[in-house]
Amino acid sequence: MSASGSRGPESPPVSRPGEQGPLLPLATPQVVVFDLDYTLLRPSDLFEAPGYVRTGERFGLALDAACWPQAERAAFEAVAARREETGLVHDDHLLEVIARAIIDGLGGGPRGAVELTARAVISAWSSAENFGLYDDVLPCLEAINAAGLRMALLSNALGHGVEEIVAHFALDDYMAAAVSSLETGAVKPAPRMFSTLFGLLGVAPEEAVMVGDSLEEDVDGAVACGCPAILLDRSGRRRDVVVPRIETLAELPAALGLHV
Ligand SMILES: [Mg+2]
Repeated sequence: MSASGSRGPESPPVSRPGEQGPLLPLATPQVVVFDLDYTLLRPSDLFEAPGYVRTGERFGLALDAACWPQAERAAFEAVAARREETGLVHDDHLLEVIARAIIDGLGGGPRGAVELTARAVISAWSSAENFGLYDDVLPCLEAINAAGLRMALLSNALGHGVEEIVAHFALDDYMAAAVSSLETGAVKPAPRMFSTLFGLLGVAPEEAVMVGDSLEEDVDGAVACGCPAILLDRSGRRRDVVVPRIETLAELPAALGLHV
């Protein structure tokens, strides 16, 4: 279930992790806007190859973890095809599209067992219990808070709602506002997502910085609205792209020109 971000082929590193590229630091903003899934929120291994294999076993499927790269690519393609059809709207059916593409990509099996496995994965994705915060999240939020900047969340919420996540992880002390696709009916990179949040915060796009793991949804979406953005490339797989980029949130305060 990791097909919601933009991932690309492996490419040679052009800078070492932790080394600020020529595009950073950005001007210190008034507000730092975070994406949720794969940015602050780490899904459990239920949504990676080992989890799919375990869930499949419960329903009699023998899924092959070695096929994960192809399965993940198939899920990206299925999401792109679905988005092409629906446009940039909130779409809970995407969870099923992703789960089915991955299960089929890992070898699939009888229709009934595939169906039950997909339902189990989708149900697990809907529960905050199956997520954690990455280790670098709270120190980063603390540092930004201490520097006096406001923070907010902007999420293409699928399955788990933003309010549920904020409550589960006690993030409300940090976040001045949160907007999800469930409320706006649109999904990033749609401008409506960004303008709704900036309206709530009372800031102009250029007074904020968007931070997220998806080049298309978070970075391109924000930049198209006039909001600077930083790609959080946790896997280091996007060293080829020429955008402000960090590999952990530990790099974020310095990337925002904060001396902490
Ligand atoms: Mg994300």
